[in-house]
Amino acid sequence: STGEVYIGVDFGTSGCRSACLDSGGRLVSEASAKYGKDAGPEEWRNALAEVVRAIPQRELAAAICMNGTSSTALLCSDPDGGVLAGPLMYNYVCNEAAVKRCRAMVPSPAHAAAAPTSTLSKACQWILDGSAGPGTRLAHQCDWLTSLLLDEKSPRVTDYHNALKLGYDLEALAWPDWLLADDRVAALLPSRVAVPGETIGHVSAEASAWLGLPESCRVAAGTTDSIAAFLAADTANIGEAVTSLGSTMAIKMRSLVKVEDAAFGVYSHRLGGEPLQWLVGGASNSGGAVLRQLFDDESVARLTEQIDPEVDSGLDYYPLPSVGERFPVCDASLQPRLEPRPTDDAEFLHGVLEGLSRIEAAGYQRLDKLGAGKVTRVLTAGGGAKNAKWRRIRERLIGVPVAAARWTEAACGSALLAMRGTSLLG
Ligand code: ADP
Repeated sequence: STGEVYIGVDFGTSGCRSACLDSGGRLVSEASAKYGKDAGPEEWRNALAEVVRAIPQRELAAAICMNGTSSTALLCSDPDGGVLAGPLMYNYVCNEAAVKRCRAMVPSPAHAAAAPTSTLSKACQWILDGSAGPGTRLAHQCDWLTSLLLDEKSPRVTDYHNALKLGYDLEALAWPDWLLADDRVAALLPSRVAVPGETIGHVSAEASAWLGLPESCRVAAGTTDSIAAFLAADTANIGEAVTSLGSTMAIKMRSLVKVEDAAFGVYSHRLGGEPLQWLVGGASNSGGAVLRQLFDDESVARLTEQIDPEVDSGLDYYPLPSVGERFPVCDASLQPRLEPRPTDDAEFLHGVLEGLSRIEAAGYQRLDKLGAGKVTRVLTAGGGAKNAKWRRIRERLIGVPVAAARWTEAACGSALLAMRGTSLLG
């Protein structure tokens, strides 16, 4: 019915947010709760309750979907769901023995599951320190939080976005043989890997009483925070992309081709649809952090007013916060280039914004060269999105329309996933 609403909950690096959309896709309410860097399951659970109970329309919820930070994991007891170890956070670097065991399993050191921060390294660490054993199971942050809404206490269900860094095969949609060959790892794996946005159950009577959601509310399999942020921009077509202009510059584009290149740090997530779409991404070391080294935000806004985005500054900068770049050029010794510096600050800023825009344009060209195809339209997220003149410079240098994203909060991406289900993927 038209009164229904859809709720997304984002568990990011510094806090939790909810977003509630009505059936017409309008954002009708939002809430947020902060938690500290060493927050664990208790704080997450409390934050979830806070941001859901703050939604006035929650009794009309038709579906809810969460996202969590990629590779943040817990070890839980099965079947009662109690937390036995962790969380080991997304950026936690596992000990040497764990990384060694992980590296001995993966088919290539460039695999997403091979990193010292990967979920698979975390599983290996729990096996080696004796925490993992019979009756234990690994759950991603998102799986665990989602399980709080369901009848079954054990968080046994994950989704294929969260499962990537645990080694899930995104093409075969199966746990690969090299992973299943290790009995102790195999015993810890989630028993089901759902499509993000797929209905995996309904709100339990207990969760209904706790959160004020109706028992008719569908619970959708979740995703990771960065994919939810991409989905918030509400793109649909091949070649549509989102550039995040935060401290660093990250680009993500819908493609029919799964592209991976370890040297450039380019990797692909499975989206969905027929024909199957992939989300190809790369990240430059450059970005807003360089701007902040040169100017405070207020000066950037003031000086931007004096820039004519239709003319070229004639300056040829490669802004970097320090030596070395990975994407769009892979060169560990690349020096920041911010000279000659004109005496006029606005002219200087003009050159810096053009330099950043050329890096962005080169990023999309790199994805094309690697086989992902051409970008057709760019949406923008992050602190740089509010700069309209920069947007025009980027449009000129990339050569496709550039606009601000409709939403940039990951919570909105999860809410859209709750509303449209797997059709949002492709
Ligand atoms: P983070 O990655 O830290 O979350 P944000 O998305 O909050 O970053 O974006 C912050 C960045 O936005 C800063 O590095 C800052 O230089 C940049 N920024 C802020 N205001 C403007 C502006 N008016 N024009 C361009 N960039 C801006």
